[in-house]
Amino acid sequence: MSENTQSPAAEAAESPATKVALVSGGSRGIGRATALRLAQDGFDIGFCYRSDDQAAKELDAEIAGLGVRSLAVKTDVSDSNSVRAFVAETEAALGPVDVAVTSAGITRDNPLLMMPDEDWNQVIDTNLNGVYHVCRAVIFEMMKRKSGSIVNISSVAGVYGNATQTNYAASKAGIIGFSRSLAKEVGRYGIRANVVAPGFIETDMTAGLNEKVKKQALQSIPLRRLGRAEEVADLVSFLVSERSSYITGAVFQIDGGIII
Ligand code: NAP
Repeated sequence: MSENTQSPAAEAAESPATKVALVSGGSRGIGRATALRLAQDGFDIGFCYRSDDQAAKELDAEIAGLGVRSLAVKTDVSDSNSVRAFVAETEAALGPVDVAVTSAGITRDNPLLMMPDEDWNQVIDTNLNGVYHVCRAVIFEMMKRKSGSIVNISSVAGVYGNATQTNYAASKAGIIGFSRSLAKEVGRYGIRANVVAPGFIETDMTAGLNEKVKKQALQSIPLRRLGRAEEVADLVSFLVSERSSYITGAVFQIDGGIII
């Protein structure tokens, strides 16, 4: 095959300089679209998921089909040891991590009056502590190598709040404070940390919403549709690339204008 008929991903795979992207919650939804997009950009991909082996297997094969290396690791992001093992396995198989995207997240909606402690704790443990665990596990190598880019997935709920989502909004607001602090801490090491805050995106997470809520949401979105996971992945792709080399500590909403 001549050089200029190869896809960018295939060329990157053959190059010793291929970069490694780690994606938490990569098996479905926004994480999946991001893993695929970064693979198309030429990154080797290490992704984790919690339980859906079939979805992970399918994505693993799809990434490999793009001509880059893929590693799927079953991980619970709420458990620091599990995340450390995921990062160590990725580094051993693919090399040092250049880019980390944290997309693993859950909802357990309830009015505060009826919020079980378990739902509060599960959401904070997965969404907020999960981001801490991933960033904590990759940061030392990035600091040593004086480069890296981190994108943490928050939500517009973390910026503006949302009734019945005190747990979720608290976790997503926490991600913003965490990421801005991290950006200040590690900027001098050439590491960038940014936040993407999506509105309503078509994934399994929003598929569970009842029709009334969806209809109301559509009425409040100027673009009159839900977003696609691929649209979020495009933004992440920009944020981990050199095209955004002077952007750090920023929060990007991608929401069809829902909050205007
Ligand atoms: P999704 O389709 O439900 O996918 C969630 C992913 O996270 C799955 O791969 C899941 O793996 C993984 N995951 C969940 N808990 C985990 C854990 N403890 N450890 C490891 N992986 C875990 O969700 P999504 O809609 O793509 O959402 C992705 C991120 O975007 C979340 O942080 C969410 O809060 C945020 N977000 C989404 C929307 C939206 O409208 N969809 C809006 C704003 C923000 P398994 O399948 O194996 O469980």
